Amino acid sequence: MLESLIRQEIQQKGPLSQSRFMELALTHPYYGYYRSQEAIGHDFTTSAEISQIFGELIGAWAVDVYQKLDQPETVSVIELGPGKGTLMADFLRVSKLCESFSQALSLTLVEISPLLKKSQQKAIQVPTTWVEQFDDIPPAQSPCIILANEFFDALPTNCLIRKENRLYERCIDGQEEGLSFTNTPLQEDPGPDQIKEESPAASILMEKISNRLFKQRGIFLCIDYGYEEGSGDSLQALFQGNPSPPLEHIGKADLTCHVDFGKLKEDALSHGLGVLGPISQRHFLKNLGFDLRLEALKQKNPCQKANLEAAAQRLIHPQQMGTLFKVMAVFSPPTLNPIGFTS
Ligand code: SAH
Repeated sequence: MLESLIRQEIQQKGPLSQSRFMELALTHPYYGYYRSQEAIGHDFTTSAEISQIFGELIGAWAVDVYQKLDQPETVSVIELGPGKGTLMADFLRVSKLCESFSQALSLTLVEISPLLKKSQQKAIQVPTTWVEQFDDIPPAQSPCIILANEFFDALPTNCLIRKENRLYERCIDGQEEGLSFTNTPLQEDPGPDQIKEESPAASILMEKISNRLFKQRGIFLCIDYGYEEGSGDSLQALFQGNPSPPLEHIGKADLTCHVDFGKLKEDALSHGLGVLGPISQRHFLKNLGFDLRLEALKQKNPCQKANLEAAAQRLIHPQQMGTLFKVMAVFSPPTLNPIGFTS
């Protein structure tokens, strides 16, 4: 169904940009992947789902930020794309150890998927406001802590190719036999051959986050897989847990691109915000006391030792999620000095 809608749009307007294709495939109001599938646990899994330590440490990190914000009467915690709500449930279990934080907490979750919203409603037992998009978050005065784990990788991203001194945009065209990639020539562009990705949607969102941080004070913690320098061709699809060609199973497969942390950092700095990182997920979690928490869990659950260790390794091992995944903090001036980023 979604494929025929995409073909119709191609017939009317010509080949689609990769961004437009991703937007339709992921968030079409009826047939988009995130509107119609369970996603997490079926096609992919996230750090939060792998180990409770992940959300717990972020909860402890947030309490420290709250204290550095001088323990405001209200602190707005906003999570973008909370998935099954696991990260937030683990976050809340730890952060409630600080009673004043729990009392100050005003929680907003930004979620486009009705199915995942239901899971979040089950997992999270504190008063919560749900909105579908960042723009719908009610205005507030209170300092805020914004979290996003594996959210930016789902934002639509374009792909530009420089070949023999000419720029091309990678687009999606539709023939009788199916959809295919095509390189649409743009202007001349002298320089070495290169493939570069650009996500206007990510830059726009970073601007909105920056505006909110400026107005309310606070910090944004962005965790995702991606790169700070260089670029590439990273569009990938996962269908039922396995890599799949991105133009197949449209609306039934997850589509992502690696996050360009270098560009997000540049955007945040240009809006006058402070930036820490990106640093590796391994480094960030270890700085927050990952090893101690792991030991405590193993001692409490001796029969689970092997499982706990295996899950922990997935999060921090350099050949698993330890270095590909990165953590960056963006904060309102003058500075907040959050824990986790020391070298
Ligand atoms: N943060 C979660 C899940 C990451 S998966 C975890 O760590 O487990 C991506 C999440 O973002 C899902 O909840 C998905 O439904 C949501 N999402 C994706 N695109 C979105 C969009 N454009 N607007 C709002 N939510 C979106």
